[in-house]
Amino acid sequence: MSSDNETPSPEATHDVAVVGTGPSGLVAALALHEIGASVVAIGPAPSGDAARLETRTAALLASSVDLLKALKVFDRLKSEAAPLKAIRIIDASRSLFRAPDIEFKASELGLEAFGYNIPNTTLIEALYTRAREVLPAVVTTNVEAIALDARGAVLTLSDGAPLSARLVAGADGRRAICRTSAGIAMTDRQYDQAAIASSFRHKLPHRFISNELHKEQGSVTTVPLPDPHASSLIWVGSRSEIAPLMQLDAARFEEELGERLGGLLGPISGMSARAEFPVSGLSAGTLAANRTALLGEAAHILPPIGAQGLNLGFRDAAALADCVAAALRLGRDPGGEEVLASYRRARDIDVLTRTVGVDLLSRSLLSSLFPVQAARGLLSHGLNALPPLRRMVMRLGLTPPTALPTLMRPAEPGAPFRA
Ligand SMILES: Cc1cc2nc3c(=O)[nH]c(=O)nc-3n(C[C@H](O)[C@H](O)[C@H](O)COP(=O)(O)OP(=O)(O)OC[C@H]3O[C@@H](n4cnc5c(N)ncnc54)[C@H](O)[C@@H]3O)c2cc1C
Repeated sequence: MSSDNETPSPEATHDVAVVGTGPSGLVAALALHEIGASVVAIGPAPSGDAARLETRTAALLASSVDLLKALKVFDRLKSEAAPLKAIRIIDASRSLFRAPDIEFKASELGLEAFGYNIPNTTLIEALYTRAREVLPAVVTTNVEAIALDARGAVLTLSDGAPLSARLVAGADGRRAICRTSAGIAMTDRQYDQAAIASSFRHKLPHRFISNELHKEQGSVTTVPLPDPHASSLIWVGSRSEIAPLMQLDAARFEEELGERLGGLLGPISGMSARAEFPVSGLSAGTLAANRTALLGEAAHILPPIGAQGLNLGFRDAAALADCVAAALRLGRDPGGEEVLASYRRARDIDVLTRTVGVDLLSRSLLSSLFPVQAARGLLSHGLNALPPLRRMVMRLGLTPPTALPTLMRPAEPGAPFRA
């Protein structure tokens, strides 16, 4: 175990212990620090997770970028962040009701970009560096057990003295110890799918357009990288399709990808390392109980369609900061039931609508049922023919149905991004 700036004593009581140093946990720790809470962040250093090859990038929407700006992290990411100027959805199925292509352009909403695409490793590294600079304590170890009672939480670490806090912010991912310690159940949705995440080079420029190609078996999404001839890739398919693709050498995989993209980005080369990720759906029974607020993948996991997962985790983090700030202003217990209830109120609708929306979209894209395909085709025609409908759908994708948390609001009202 190592700790920066301060070695927390067993008696030390922090307002919040953030468990998990993935992107959701680090953003939560920085946001809670920004509003004046005393925070300890606990979890392995970014390089400490050798079990997983991180090849993913995150398409972060405007409000998430604004949060990174408010936390003074975005400047460090700029050189590796590619603007998302348009999203093209292509139905490459053999359905009788093949939907027409749809292109959503940020300019239709008066925006320069919907957001930015950033490699996960770069993002986590920058967040971790900032956390070490500003937080009073970053403890690089795992939490082994959490005891919760009316006075607070005591966290047993795998290495070192126990820590205590009033509130546990559980951002420890899918096998969350925080969720089980708080007695929160979860429901699991199975998709029998997996995803390959990687990146590649291509002859034709991407023009900062993301492409989503849907076929009967699944989808292939390309997302621009800063180099105009490089994109990241998310290939979602049935497990039986993905397993052999993972076994191919780079040259054969490039051929398969080129075929799947049908020449959209021209000849393909320079395939980077590939990693496989499970496609799963998980929902915690409640977002907060027993001095514990869950966020990120500890609370909800969505299939990787429509770039919603981490954006949702960032909104959890910023909303929790608002709830704790309000409690501290009034001299209340930051882990008390009032704070947990306000966090549930702030997040329930957003999390539920995104979970249901992505689940429906994911299942409808795979459905061979005639009425489902016909409905999809009709909707696509409608979106192409009716710009107001298209703008409404774009706004729904970009912003939550409830008000944005304070740290995610553009500094100037009406401006698309913080300066
Ligand atoms: C292929 C793919 C593409 C995606 N693309 C996008 C996208 O474009 N846009 C988007 O918004 N989302 C995307 N997502 C979703 C996004 O990647 C996830 O939402 C995000 O990585 C989850 O971050 P997290 O911090 O919540 O969880 P994690 O990254 O899982 O972090 C959990 C952390 O907790 C730590 N931990 C675990 N147990 C303990 C413990 N006991 N004590 C201390 N620490 C612990 C772990 O070491 C880890 O650091 C994608 C997902 C996939 C699979």
